[in-house]
Amino acid sequence: MTAASDALIVIDPQLDFCPGGSLAVMDGDAVMAPIAALARDFAHVVVTQDWHPAGHSSFASSHAGRQPFETIAMPYGEQVLWPDHCIQGTSGAEFHPAIADAVARADLIVRKGSNPAVDSYSAFFENDRATRTGLAGALRDRGVTRCVFVGLAYDFCVAWSALDARREGFEAVVLKDHARAIAMPLGSGTSVDAAEELFAAHGVVTSM
Ligand SMILES: [Zn+2]
Repeated sequence: MTAASDALIVIDPQLDFCPGGSLAVMDGDAVMAPIAALARDFAHVVVTQDWHPAGHSSFASSHAGRQPFETIAMPYGEQVLWPDHCIQGTSGAEFHPAIADAVARADLIVRKGSNPAVDSYSAFFENDRATRTGLAGALRDRGVTRCVFVGLAYDFCVAWSALDARREGFEAVVLKDHARAIAMPLGSGTSVDAAEELFAAHGVVTSM
C-alpha cells in the first residue's frame, strides 16, 4: 500500500501517444487500465497533459526541411523534433478513455508544452530546465515526499519528470511495467539505456 505522502504522477496518458495516434508509443494503450486500477491506492494523483499550440517549435513541421526524430539546436539546448502531436483541443490531446477513473481522481491536471518556443517533457520544468510548472510547490503543499511515475513515454517525459523530482528533493520511483518507451536509437544503445543510466546516477528507483 501507499502512504499519505506518496503521489502517483501519471504522465501524458493521451491518445496521440497510443497506437493510432500521431506519436504512438508501442503498446502504450496497454498500461492505461492498469494505471487506473493503481490510482485507487493513492491519496494523491496528478495527471499531466501534453498541450501544444499548433505550429509548436518541437514539431518537425515547424522547421523547413527537417524530419521527425531528427535533433535540432534550440536556444535552450538540443531538441528532438517530433511529429505534430497533442495539439490543444484536438482529439489526439484527449486522455485515453481507459484512464478516465484516474483522471477523475486527480488532485491536479498539469498541462505542459504550451509555450510555443520551448518544449516540456517534464512535469516539473520546461526543457530550458529553469521554468517551473508549479508542480513541485503543489506537491509540497500537500505533504508529498515520494513521487511514483507511470505513463508515456518511459524514456522521455516519464524519465525527465522522475529526474526532476530528484532535483526538487522528492523520492522518485518509476514503475516500468506501467510505462512504455519510444526506445529511440542513440549511439550504441537507445534512449531507454540513457534514461536508466541517469536513474542509477540520480537515485531514481524502478520498483516500489
Ligand atoms: Zn509534446
